[in-house]
Amino acid sequence: MAGRAELRHPLEKYVREGVLPHIWCPGCGNGVIFNAFLRALDDLSFDLDRLAVISGIGCMGRVSGYVNAPAFHTTHGRAIPLAFGVKVARPDLKVVVISGDGDLFAIGGNHFIHAARRNVDMLVICANNFNYGMTGGQVGPTTPPGSRTTSTPYGSIEHPFNLVQLAASVGAIYVARWTAAHPRRLRESIKKALRKHGFCFIEVISPCPVGFGRRNQMGTAREFMRRLREISVLTKAKDPSEAYIGPDKIVIGEFVDVEGKPEFTDLIWGQVKEVQARVRRGELRIAL
Ligand code: SF4
Repeated sequence: MAGRAELRHPLEKYVREGVLPHIWCPGCGNGVIFNAFLRALDDLSFDLDRLAVISGIGCMGRVSGYVNAPAFHTTHGRAIPLAFGVKVARPDLKVVVISGDGDLFAIGGNHFIHAARRNVDMLVICANNFNYGMTGGQVGPTTPPGSRTTSTPYGSIEHPFNLVQLAASVGAIYVARWTAAHPRRLRESIKKALRKHGFCFIEVISPCPVGFGRRNQMGTAREFMRRLREISVLTKAKDPSEAYIGPDKIVIGEFVDVEGKPEFTDLIWGQVKEVQARVRRGELRIAL
């Protein structure tokens, strides 16, 4: 109608045309994480041609199909090695892996620890919903002890990973934990991590009301979200040993934030250039 402005969402340009509606259940934390990521890009006026978004399998893994930027949806657990390859081939890109706890820390756990150890410049954002949501709510590597899942109907007897402590212990230069009930802090944290050079990790405790929540008396999606806010305690200590996570308390905040650690891509390309120079000077011969 003439004179009537068309309503457009301010983040519309960051979402691939034609992919909506998304698959996420009402009340899922994944939408909050996606929104915080897009808002962080927007705040930074990030050049999308300098970005590569990579995800594995699972509910959060759908992000690579939704974001309107160069993206790749890879096989289960293999988001980080694919991101590693992209980064080494194109060091000018900012590589962001967004995936779930099962994808990143069960099937892909080995890749996570070695990418962090090598300090590859990438940001890994993990939606930790305490179970395998997409496949029906099975026990995963972060499921809290005693929690009911479809594969642990009498309560999990496993010892879960503390993702913050794991990331810190294997060498990540930036480690933070937030919940989906803290979207502003998450957005600022993503902006900070996007500006850093090295392996950065952000854990986001993300409600899965239809899987984990339903089996563990978390109430409605709204009540689950409210509970996350109520039990979260912000620390400013920057100490991974403070990163407690339990049924009555979740410590959130930044736990590692360091500068100056040599980055893998810089080192490998530095070595390549040095070898090429030595070959040109006749100091080194490469047998083919
Ligand atoms: Fe979200 Fe859980 Fe639904 Fe997956 S199954 S979309 S994690 S609420």
